Parts: sequence; structure tokens; C-alpha cells
Amino acid sequence: MKKISHIGIAVEKIADYVGFYRDILGLSVEGEEVVEDQKVKVAFLTVGETRIELLEPTSPESPIAKFIEKKGPGVHHLAFEVEDIVATLAAMKEKGIKLIDETPRCGAHHTKIAFVHPKESKGVLVELTQSETH
Ligand code: ZN
Repeated sequence: MKKISHIGIAVEKIADYVGFYRDILGLSVEGEEVVEDQKVKVAFLTVGETRIELLEPTSPESPIAKFIEKKGPGVHHLAFEVEDIVATLAAMKEKGIKLIDETPRCGAHHTKIAFVHPKESKGVLVELTQSETH
């Protein structure tokens, strides 16, 4: 584990939430991106070495839409940056940890990501992420 990569926050509309982080907290926006695979639009806001990831569903089928429906908007996941995502997943699997993604998929900003089942972390969805430069 290298650091907390980002904190994912589920929102109905990025435009309604970005102002608080940008104008009140003074964070800089890294731009928006649609991640088709997850049916979400994401906006990243930088804070030191970490980022806030705002997630807006692009379809009612999106896991984010379902999350908001159940729990309302709010913190959705914690993302840890790892050196080697494949090795980390293999090590977790060996320890019997339940994974949502047994193999990494493509995330925003050309990263490889995988989710650990929230049951393992007592309700907190954990994302592992590896940037492509490694
Ligand atoms: Zn994320």
C-alpha cells in the first residue's frame, strides 16, 4: 500500500457538488471523464497527494445510481494505491478475502482498479488502484 489514492463520493450531479470543493475548499479540478464500464461520470479534485473523486451515474443501471437510491449521496469508497494490483489481489484471494473483481479492470485516468467486497471491511467499499506508469 502506497497511499490513499482517492476518496470516492457518490453524487446525483457533479455540477451541484463541485462548487463546494472548488470554490469553498479551494481544490483544483482535474477534469471530468466518463468511465463506460462503471456507467459513471467522474471528476477528480486534488488535495495534496490525494484526490476526491465525485461519481455521477450516467444510467439508472449504474452501481452509483443504486448506491444513491439505497443510502443517498455520500462517501462511496476508499481507494488505496498499490504497487502491483495483480499481486495484491492474488495475496488477498489466498487469504480467502471476497473480491468483487478478481482481475483488475480499467478505471479513470488509465488506471487499473479492483474492488474488494464491502463485507470484508465491515461496510466500507475498498478500491485498489495501480497507476499505469508502474
Ligand atoms: Zn475510485
